[in-house]
Amino acid sequence: MRWIEVAVQRPFPTPLTYALPAELPLPARGALVRVPLGRTQEIGVVLGASAAPKIEASKVRPILGLVEGGLALPEALVDLALWIADFYACGPGEALSACLPPAARQGRGARQERRARLVRVPSPAESSALEARAPARFRAVRTLREAGCPMPVPDLLRRCGASREALRALELEGWIAIDVGEREDAGAAYTGARDLPPVLSAEQRRAEERIAAALAERSFKPFLLHGVTGSGKTEVYLAAMQRALDAGHGAIFLVPEIALTTQTTQRLERRFGSVAILHSGLTEKMRGHYWRRIAAGEVRIVVGARSAILAPVPRLGLIVVDEEHEPSFKQQSTPRYHARDVAVLRAQREGAVVVLGSATPSFESWQNAREGRYELLKLEERVPGRALPQVFIIDMRGEQRTQGGQAVFSGALRTAITEALARQEQVLLLQNRRGYAPVLFCGACGTTLRCRQCDVSLTVHRKRNRALCHLCAEEVPATTTCPDCKQASLVLLGTGSERVEEVLSLEFPRARIRRMDSDTMLTRESYAEVYEAMSAREIDVLVGTQMIAKGLDFPHVTVVGVIQADTALAVPDFRAAERTYQLIAQVAGRSGRGASAGRVFVQSLEPEHDAIRRAAKNDFEGFAAAELLDRRKHGYPPFARFVRFQLEGEDEAKVLAAAEELHAELAPHCDEAKGLRLHRPAPAVVRLVRGRHRMQVLVRAKPPQALGALRTKLRRLARGLRSGVRVDLDVDPVGLW
Ligand code: ADP
Ligand code: ZN
Repeated sequence: MRWIEVAVQRPFPTPLTYALPAELPLPARGALVRVPLGRTQEIGVVLGASAAPKIEASKVRPILGLVEGGLALPEALVDLALWIADFYACGPGEALSACLPPAARQGRGARQERRARLVRVPSPAESSALEARAPARFRAVRTLREAGCPMPVPDLLRRCGASREALRALELEGWIAIDVGEREDAGAAYTGARDLPPVLSAEQRRAEERIAAALAERSFKPFLLHGVTGSGKTEVYLAAMQRALDAGHGAIFLVPEIALTTQTTQRLERRFGSVAILHSGLTEKMRGHYWRRIAAGEVRIVVGARSAILAPVPRLGLIVVDEEHEPSFKQQSTPRYHARDVAVLRAQREGAVVVLGSATPSFESWQNAREGRYELLKLEERVPGRALPQVFIIDMRGEQRTQGGQAVFSGALRTAITEALARQEQVLLLQNRRGYAPVLFCGACGTTLRCRQCDVSLTVHRKRNRALCHLCAEEVPATTTCPDCKQASLVLLGTGSERVEEVLSLEFPRARIRRMDSDTMLTRESYAEVYEAMSAREIDVLVGTQMIAKGLDFPHVTVVGVIQADTALAVPDFRAAERTYQLIAQVAGRSGRGASAGRVFVQSLEPEHDAIRRAAKNDFEGFAAAELLDRRKHGYPPFARFVRFQLEGEDEAKVLAAAEELHAELAPHCDEAKGLRLHRPAPAVVRLVRGRHRMQVLVRAKPPQALGALRTKLRRLARGLRSGVRVDLDVDPVGLW
């Protein structure tokens, strides 16, 4: 009898042993097989031949067969997944499941796209009439005709320089139709226009040459590309990718948000032709399609959000992680991997070059660069002809004295908006909090309206006239009557993006205003739609949450306002200052990217806070030096590493008991003298969510390596707690709450 080890997609701590029927040859490591499990069938990954099982041989069940089509994970990916399982303390099957082609697991959702198609070809006479009457519409029709196939709306607008109004008119007149649908042309060769690379600036060339030299060595080399916003980092990535392609290698390009893949994909397609896209927003069918083409080496460039780091790229030469500081690279469900960290490890294992890029690097990467583990590449200036914006810090305490406590705009920001509108420039306003007002407070009895299921206050949404819980989506009508004292004395406190939009439209009635936050961005199309409208300058002022801070490149934005810079400082997390710095620096970087200079107004109640002062001066190095000193002193990452156990259940007493039990089990393994400190069980920052109580137990390893052998025991320790309590284990959590 022969035995094999198979990892199934379940949270088991080890692979399972199966028997191999005599007629089957030994499947390769990574092969997908169908196996019986309990009363069902599962798809598992073969890890190799196995020694005789510990249980009676006759009880070991045989595998049912290979998965149709002989699908297999590349061996390098199997090894990577097993490393992930080890490092993040999850089961091998759970980590492998994340690498599998979607046909072998579940998936839903679709990438929607708006495409214009020509429905009636104008006669020569009609053509010239159209050209005389409406030149932009004529150009749009001509472009579509020349393309000979439907074209994504943003592509069309860019190529013919028409507005969306022109397209709408063409649609009404019956020349074109706009279809909304899934990208069915998945993986079809890109046939659109191609861009030539620009001549790189001296700084860009220096950076690119260092990366090229590393690529020529064909061995592992990590870089941190620290370049101010608009310094042309993307061009450096593209040049490096070209080198990798020329040498016959594949490349992975990671972006922090699915929403940004569209923009990046278009840029890559215009440079390289076809690219593959991998992220969780695609349908199963499309992901499967791309997965196979990538594995076969048919497309050598992969773009995607976090999960694309697990793409089966053969001969991987280069990995780029753009905006490497973004917390969204951390997966928030098992396997809880950090795509940036996996990128570095994967590059190391496959002898590839990895470039982490950001204007505001994470302190983890920054410290790695300072200690020489990563080579630091710097772009200190914006591309020729563009200067960094001027940043003004506005003390809102003074404004509140003169304008009253609920002032939204300072005098300076109001004037700047007026000026920008007069010059037909665009304005971005950041308020990183959605809804109208975050607090509904009773002036008579002092009660704050809270969710019944969660430990948070309800946020008032004015248009819907409801007060909502942002954690569980419970909602109640927004009234003025206090539920406690029954007096009509509820007042709205604080400012959300909806309120900013309202105040703005009252003060600037003629401005074309749009809001971008998760309340208005209901489908993926809405993002593309706002993006198009901004590009076409159909929006004067865009108000939004952190969604507007990332990656957007609109040349006509000259004024950026941060309505309340200190919202993120209030978060009880050791990274609060770092996040505040990043948010301000990133949104400020959206300004002045075109020919006109930019100005940024940062409104704050804590204007002397280090993060705010340094972000305004664009002094990343000074900020990092001060923060790192503090982190070292208090034993926070990157000088330490946390493991967080989060316990959750309906019965508060059970959760508490389970936390104590876990603490007792961990205690013998945590020796402070060996760098392992066990924290007392404590309620999570939000202690109640959807009626479930939450506690957490933290282990700190200082230095990070001190975690050592405990890592392999974490999972076992987290299991076997009393029923009714769920335990979630997170190694290197990106937030401690
Ligand atoms: P970053 O990623 O650093 O924010 P980008 O690579 O997006 O910057 O570049 C900002 C803008 O400058 C883009 O519109 C890009 O096309 C342009 N750009 C970048 N490098 C050059 C260059 N060498 N010459 C001309 N334009 C450039
Ligand atoms: Zn709630």
